[in-house]
Amino acid sequence: MGPPGAGKGTQARFVAEHFKIPAISTGDIFRANVSKNTPLGQEAKRYMDAGEYVPDEVTNLMVRDRIDEPDAEPGFLLDGYPRTLAQVEELDGMIRFTGHALDAVVSIAVDDEDLVQRLLQRAQLEGRADDTEEVIRRRQEIYAEQTAPLIDVYRERGILIEVDGRGEVHEVTQRIFDALDVVPES
Ligand code: ADP
Repeated sequence: MGPPGAGKGTQARFVAEHFKIPAISTGDIFRANVSKNTPLGQEAKRYMDAGEYVPDEVTNLMVRDRIDEPDAEPGFLLDGYPRTLAQVEELDGMIRFTGHALDAVVSIAVDDEDLVQRLLQRAQLEGRADDTEEVIRRRQEIYAEQTAPLIDVYRERGILIEVDGRGEVHEVTQRIFDALDVVPES
């Protein structure tokens, strides 16, 4: 977990590689559907371009299908999900059914001004439609309103790992691996 631009996607790939499990990014799945212009992509695009969350029913179904894929059977890492309390409950239900359990929730903290700068830079490199200053600020607001409260939920469950997201990518990876108590592969 972490606000937009915290580095979730980047770090998710390292963690998933280490554990040899798929990194499942709801944002990436939505973007792939948008570029293929599928019905799901058409639905999601309206929300994403405005910096709003895609409705829970749509997102939940998509995640349910994805974690049913055979490659997720040994385990999986979710990037960008759950983002609302309703998604937390839905995920609890899904994994109860598949026999999985949540081992850890990693929260990456970076302050808002640094984030806007990182995202504007990413906009120049990747050209994502939702990386304009106005939409970035909206995404931050929604994160603070709807997603930040989930940090307390997982803290109370005793599975929250909080990591400082400032500094170089490899420094953040090292902090995450230290907290998860694993040794990075070079
Ligand atoms: P970021 O965290 O940098 O904003 P993501 O790639 O994770 O980027 O998500 C991009 C967009 O995809 C979000 O702003 C939202 O519109 C949509 N999205 C991704 N995950 C979810 C989710 N779990 N629930 C609702 N909408 C989501």
